Amino acid sequence: MALKITEDCIVCNACLPECPNTAIYEPGVEWRMADGTTIKENFTLMNGASTDGAANHTPISIDFYYIVPDKCTECQGFHEEPQCASVCPVDSCVPDELYHETVEELMVKKERLHA
Ligand code: SF4
Ligand code: SF4
Repeated sequence: MALKITEDCIVCNACLPECPNTAIYEPGVEWRMADGTTIKENFTLMNGASTDGAANHTPISIDFYYIVPDKCTECQGFHEEPQCASVCPVDSCVPDELYHETVEELMVKKERLHA
């Protein structure tokens, strides 16, 4: 499943450069599928909606760092464990119960992000 960042986040930036999918954003910053991926044109999100890779999306949090579920693969295909959770000093990167995904599904997701 994708990870999420809790309100315990102290906004230290340690996690952001570690993400292989650029799934982590600073508070209040708009996110894009194209950031750190090969997605340039139409892309179908997990909720079934279509988006252009370059389209800007509303920040998920304006107070804490946040993770875009459509871009988080639990680091599958890159690392043996979620890098954000590994470096977070306050353990605020945790599994997001809203997104149950198998390892196989996460690998497919990774391939879609980096075709
Ligand atoms: S688990 Fe990996 S892919 Fe997901 S947000 Fe953290 S660093 Fe990025
Ligand atoms: S490493 Fe943890 S505390 Fe630091 S910005 Fe990321 S989620 Fe927040």
